[in-house]
Amino acid sequence: MNKIRLGIAGCGIATRKLHLPALRKLGNIFEVAALYNRTERRSQELAGQMKPSPRVFNNYVDMLESGEIDAVDISLPPGLNNEFISQALDAGIHVICEKPISNSTAEGKKVVELAERSDRVVYIAENFRHVSKFTEASRLIESGKIGSPAFFQWQSWVRMSRDNEYVNTNWRKHPDHIGGYLSDGGVHHIAAIRLLAGDIAKVTAFSKTVSDYLGAEDTLACVMQTKNGSLVSYNVSYALYKCGMSATIIGSDGCMHIADSRITLDSHGKKDILDIDQDDSYEREFVDFHRTVCGERNILGSPLSALHDLAVIEAAVISSNTDRRVFVDSLL
Ligand code: NAP
Repeated sequence: MNKIRLGIAGCGIATRKLHLPALRKLGNIFEVAALYNRTERRSQELAGQMKPSPRVFNNYVDMLESGEIDAVDISLPPGLNNEFISQALDAGIHVICEKPISNSTAEGKKVVELAERSDRVVYIAENFRHVSKFTEASRLIESGKIGSPAFFQWQSWVRMSRDNEYVNTNWRKHPDHIGGYLSDGGVHHIAAIRLLAGDIAKVTAFSKTVSDYLGAEDTLACVMQTKNGSLVSYNVSYALYKCGMSATIIGSDGCMHIADSRITLDSHGKKDILDIDQDDSYEREFVDFHRTVCGERNILGSPLSALHDLAVIEAAVISSNTDRRVFVDSLL
């Protein structure tokens, strides 16, 4: 297949600010052929701003069955993913769907089952798996630059202020997705941590609610052990002072620090600074989706991998609520 004719379901922030700018750069492999949004006024407005202007459908199934699209790009509140993915597969349409895979691990497992039963592609878009600084850091670890890595530390201080556009979406104000921002943002962090450290086996966590407007707990301190025995300290707040994201990885023969677009490497006492190009991770995930529709293996958009990311966050939420250590596999 050369060009994929894409229908878009959901014309919110992710579609307008993240997906369409990426798709504009990929006119050689994608054509945005159709839009669907619950509130039709918004899809009409968006279609009016696009060239060529896609057809607007006021019914999702009509768009799927129109014969005018090959794939659908779903950007909706995560609790709707199962139903929207299922309807697309029934209509023989490939799917790219925004993370998290669903609003809970139990619901996410149903998406994995749907994908396994279908001959169509189900690609869960997790852009952190396409961010160059993480893929490069992973490559450096694999090549032995810091010896055997044993300790991973991740911190994200991403204050979501009261006037933030995301904060003012209804589904985030009244979350039915596990842990609210802890999963909405957290699956990104866990995807990167798993890329660097491997699969997580056990989680112990404490959470706290700092803000009065983020809908659920907004601050988490978490200690984890990977399946190969490495230790991970994961700390995040969506409410405290914004001081950015950083990761430090310490091995037997060196250490690595990742912050902004820079990797600082100390390998066997030799220090290096690597400035990494900040390319568009959304563009890369659409290119990868195109490859999988053309028959290549779905690795970076695998529903099972997205399910693991969500299960780690759910394990942290359960651990915090029940004051015990949680085995991630017990949720899968
Ligand atoms: P948003 O701006 O609130 O958009 C949500 C969309 O869902 C709107 O089009 C809304 O339609 C529609 N919707 C809401 N409830 C619905 C219902 N009951 N039935 C049908 N449609 C409904 O949210 P967003 O920020 O774009 O987030 C959408 C998805 O993208 C989420 O899964 C989020 O996690 C993900 N996301 C990913 C990233 C990333 O960096 N990868 C960043 C942001 C978001 P109306 O216009 O009718 O309200």
